[in-house]
Parts: sequence; structure tokens; C-alpha cells
Amino acid sequence: MNLYALDFAALEALFAAWGVAPIHAQTVWKWLYRQTPLDFTSLPDTLPRHLQVRLAAETTLSLPDVVASQVSADGMTRKDLLQLADGQRVEVVIMRYRHRHSACISTQVGCACDCRFCATGQMGFVRHLTAAEIVAQVIHAQRTLRAGGQSLTNFVLMGMGEPLLNYEHTLDALRRLCDPRGMGFVERRITLSTVGIVPGILRLAEEPLRISLAVSLHTATDALRDTLMPINRRYPLDELCRALRTYTAITQRRVMLEWVLIDGVNATREQAEALVAHFADIPVHVNLIQLNPTPEYAGQPASPEAVEAFIAVLEHAGIPHTMRQRRGAPIAAACGQLRRRFPEN
Ligand code: SF4
Repeated sequence: MNLYALDFAALEALFAAWGVAPIHAQTVWKWLYRQTPLDFTSLPDTLPRHLQVRLAAETTLSLPDVVASQVSADGMTRKDLLQLADGQRVEVVIMRYRHRHSACISTQVGCACDCRFCATGQMGFVRHLTAAEIVAQVIHAQRTLRAGGQSLTNFVLMGMGEPLLNYEHTLDALRRLCDPRGMGFVERRITLSTVGIVPGILRLAEEPLRISLAVSLHTATDALRDTLMPINRRYPLDELCRALRTYTAITQRRVMLEWVLIDGVNATREQAEALVAHFADIPVHVNLIQLNPTPEYAGQPASPEAVEAFIAVLEHAGIPHTMRQRRGAPIAAACGQLRRRFPEN
């Protein structure tokens, strides 16, 4: 039995079945999530000897195997392809910055949303990840960073898949990771990124878990968004904006809008003005990032002049924004690219 596959209640149930006092479940949970151990040699001395022996004999701490990796030339970005028990594969990207260390986590194998610029979307939907498979990616990132004397400070659900279409498993995983008895991950340092699944956004607004929300917006007119991100036909911009007004009113939190700049497509003055028209009355922060070209999509990063003109419109309207550093282009870090290079056998 893999201890990282259990939630706290299941660990307590296991110990109850073994006739072990419930207090020891708390000790083991804390050890699992704070130390992210590789083996049982560091089990706390406060645990009875017979329990230590039984844990080492009958349980494991295993994570999915890393079947391919790419590391950027500067060593700051690493992308691992993990193989799940059924042979499916997902990607985890680990990014080291000066003062923080972040990971990009997947929530599905493939994706049904079919965004035109996305390698994962071009794969189609295969299956949802379980909560344990989502947790395992975070533990993998933490173990990897710890091996270099660092620690995970942030993570984003922005890898393969749409997290709000796998709502239950995703939230279950986040509750485990934020559980103060264990890892106690800081909620606001977790960002869930969605293409704009309106029922999921409204549901998330009511969650006690106060994670950060990002919307992969990329275009601000229905006509263009319908073609680039077909999910827009189901949840058009007006409906998305209504949901974000509700979300921000309930949570009192600013929403990040992700905007990948594609030359001649959405890096235009008209698109910037449409963005302002839709979002001026919603507390948002726009994250701009240049396109990471994939062989499957013909778009190119925007010219410096186009970027400047786009930013000028946001500044004039007083919409906060950041031009983000593009990480990982040399190591195939657009979602799904590594997975497509090394498909399962
Ligand atoms: S960008 Fe995200 S939501 Fe869109 S197809 Fe890719 S993985 Fe799915």
C-alpha cells in the first residue's frame, strides 16, 4: 500500500484496522508531508517500534517513475515526464527563481478543451487524474528541490488538463496539501488556472480554501476566442465576466488574466481595447507572456512594437499588468510538448 495514495481519513482507518492509536496517524501524516521522505529510516522515534516495522514492511512511499527529463541550459527549469500506474504519462515542470521555487502541475491526461495553440489540447482528453496522482506531482517537485537544498514555495495548476473539469479530485488534492497537520501549503501560493469554466469558478468562490485563480483569457472578443479557445462557445465572455464579478465579490481576491501574445492574432490594439472594455470594472491583473511556438501551431511571438502598443492601452486604462519571463521554451515546456515527444509505449 502506498501511503501517498491515502487521505488522512484512510490513514486513520488503516491504523484503526491495525489496532494502532489514532494519534500515530497524525505523526505519520506530518512526517509524510513535511519531510517528504524517500524511505522509512527517518520515521519519528515517538512511533512504537512495532508500527515502524509494519510500515516499512507493508507500505511504500513510491511516486510515479520519471521516464524522461529535460533541464534548461542554466539549470533553473526542469521538466519531468512521470509515468502513472496505468502507463499514462503527465508532465511536471519545476522552476527555480531567485527567491522562490515553483512547480507546474497537471490535473488530467490530455484535455478536452482543444485550445488551438496548446500541445495538450491537440492530444484530446484521455482521463482525469486522481487526487493521489495530483498530490504525487507536488511531492515529486518537493523531493527534487530538497535534493538541491531548496523547497517548494508555490505551485500552479497550469500543466496538462483543465482543473475545473476535474473539480473533485483537484480540490481533494489541494485540501490534502494545505492540511495544517501535514504540509500546510500556503493557500494563496497555489494558483489554479482555468480557461473559464463558469460553473467551476462559481463553485470555487464558495470554497473555504482561498487559493489564487488565474483565467487563461488570451483574447477578449468572442469571435476570436471562439476560434482559438472553443470552450468560449459554451461560456462566452459576458458570462465569464459575470462569474468573475461574483467570484471577486465573494473572495475579495484579484483574478489573474493570462494572455499569451501571438503576433498579428491577439497582440493588437483592438484586442487590448476589448480587454479593457470587458474587465475594467473587475479586480484583475494581466499576465502577459510571449507565445512558446509548437510545431502544431503556426503562430509566432509578438513583435516588441506590438507588445509596447498593447501595454500602452492597459496602462492608459489603469489595468495592472506584468510581462512575464518565458521559462522553458528550450526544453519543450509548453503544456503537453514533452508528453508528445515521449508518448506511452
Ligand atoms: S491550454 Fe489548458 S485548457 Fe487549453 S487545451 Fe491546453 S491544457 Fe487544455
